[in-house]
Amino acid sequence: MRQLTVNTDRAVQWQEVPPPRLFGPLAAIVRPIAVATCDFDHLIVGGHVPLPLPIAIGHEFVAEVVEIGSDVTTVCVGDHVVVPFQISCGDCPACRQRHTSCCETQPYLSCYGLGQLAGDHGGAMSDLVGVPFADAMLVGLPPGVSPADAAACSCNVTDAYRCVGPQLLERPGAPVLIVNGAFGNIGLYAALIAHAMGAGKVDFVDSDPGRAAIATRLGAKLVHPDAVRSASYPITVDASMDADLLVIALRATAPAGECSVSAMYPGGLTAVPLFEMFQNCVTLRTGQPHIRAHLEAVLRMVASGVLNLSAITSAVVDWESAPAAFASGRGKTVCVR
Ligand SMILES: [Zn+2]
Ligand SMILES: [Zn+2]
Repeated sequence: MRQLTVNTDRAVQWQEVPPPRLFGPLAAIVRPIAVATCDFDHLIVGGHVPLPLPIAIGHEFVAEVVEIGSDVTTVCVGDHVVVPFQISCGDCPACRQRHTSCCETQPYLSCYGLGQLAGDHGGAMSDLVGVPFADAMLVGLPPGVSPADAAACSCNVTDAYRCVGPQLLERPGAPVLIVNGAFGNIGLYAALIAHAMGAGKVDFVDSDPGRAAIATRLGAKLVHPDAVRSASYPITVDASMDADLLVIALRATAPAGECSVSAMYPGGLTAVPLFEMFQNCVTLRTGQPHIRAHLEAVLRMVASGVLNLSAITSAVVDWESAPAAFASGRGKTVCVR
């Protein structure tokens, strides 16, 4: 079968590889039909994260079920499903506590599209993909939602939701600050979700003119980093991968507030204003999102029509355009077939 691969020279090319086989009675084989580029794909292609290449690329996807194991009960052949990018069994203590990115039956970081370090589960830009735990992982595509719209719910949309969704349910109407950058689509989705959930206001820091324009259309207000007021936002989000902006977000977090860091800070230590955070009782939350735990809540919002995800999609292109889409290193492109 064909599989889109980021080679050791970072060229993005189709490769011929053996198809996945059914892992066992709990597994499924799916055929991806819509795959979105992720902020993290751009970092891989740009050489900005320390992951060994080659990598079978793609991990945000909607797929059609083509084969199921004998013990699978919740999906059938022919179903369209959203596939969370992380592998989780649904049955271990971590999964039962909804900490699905920390599944205890899987090696750390097990997921699609991140290569050998992530367990070599293949990439979504492939003819077929193996799903080890079909009942635990797969969620049916809601009626009326297009595969292209839902693809990014595998990762970026749900990653954004965990930064503002549960927080706004706990603090209805709270103002939100988002500092955006390298994980730019996550910041935009966070603005979209916060606005849809009735945040008092959504202030947005981003030096990229294209993303800033989208954020404004989503109802966010652009703020210069120097103008961000300290201790003013009960909910703050860092999607920047910029240590200076992270500090601004932490200082802007209101007393007893929470700052969610969706961006990743590879390498050595990252300085944070711990004394100010102590004084203000600020909670700093970071780490991989537990995608599967939040996926139904996100898809309910999408199905209800309150989230216009296409406002953030750069383009929907055909399957054969995928090498160029992934090599572009920016935007939120969805490849469909
Ligand atoms: Zn992703
Ligand atoms: Zn598990």
